[in-house]
Amino acid sequence: MSQAKRKAFAEDLLKPKQVEELYRLMESNMPGRTPTAKGPKDQPDPFRSCVSCMLSAQSRDQNTAAASQALFALADTPGGILALDDDVVAQAIKPAGLYNTKTRNLKKMCRALLDDHGGVVPQTREGLMSLPGIGRKCADIVMSFTFDHDVIAVDTHVHRVCNRTGLAQGKTEAQTAQSLEDRTPDWAKRDGHFWLLEFGKKVCASRAPKCETCFVNHLCVFYAGRD
Ligand code: SF4
Repeated sequence: MSQAKRKAFAEDLLKPKQVEELYRLMESNMPGRTPTAKGPKDQPDPFRSCVSCMLSAQSRDQNTAAASQALFALADTPGGILALDDDVVAQAIKPAGLYNTKTRNLKKMCRALLDDHGGVVPQTREGLMSLPGIGRKCADIVMSFTFDHDVIAVDTHVHRVCNRTGLAQGKTEAQTAQSLEDRTPDWAKRDGHFWLLEFGKKVCASRAPKCETCFVNHLCVFYAGRD
């Protein structure tokens, strides 16, 4: 692994006071949650939101949207999807890729929803993650965007920002999500996803982070370790 890449994963974690300062600066400089905030897998109800999130694995947003739209034109309830032939489901969700695996998981999720949850999408992380095909990121996205809970969903941008700055640590997005939850003060959990996501896109970009003008560079572990 290159020197630059090694340094992309912070070796140190920020102290609680620094975490507080970083979030205060995010609050001052980045847009937070708005009443009309829509999840990346923008869907009008919890079931559709879960399905779209599941379909989004290793898929571009526009392909996920096309797959979701095609599937929901055929059925948009657990029972409705279970009634469809696997081939029909696979054909509909083909744009999202991995369609055979996703078809199997989708049907298992529908079955579990009906058998274990009365057909209602659970609102807890534990309940959501008990559904086949729903991992930590999907669970947190659904909790945050669909159920309006104060949860910081960790995607690739948030994961990168956390590990560079030393805000949180984890080799996987799920590990980073747990570290971030443990280390984030409650007041910052409502908007944290929005601040860090926007910051990761606009300032701490993957290939060309704007370190020299970054408003948290005095706190950042990655910046401190630069040659
Ligand atoms: S200084 Fe800012 S832009 Fe550079 S790595 Fe740190 S957080 Fe990202």
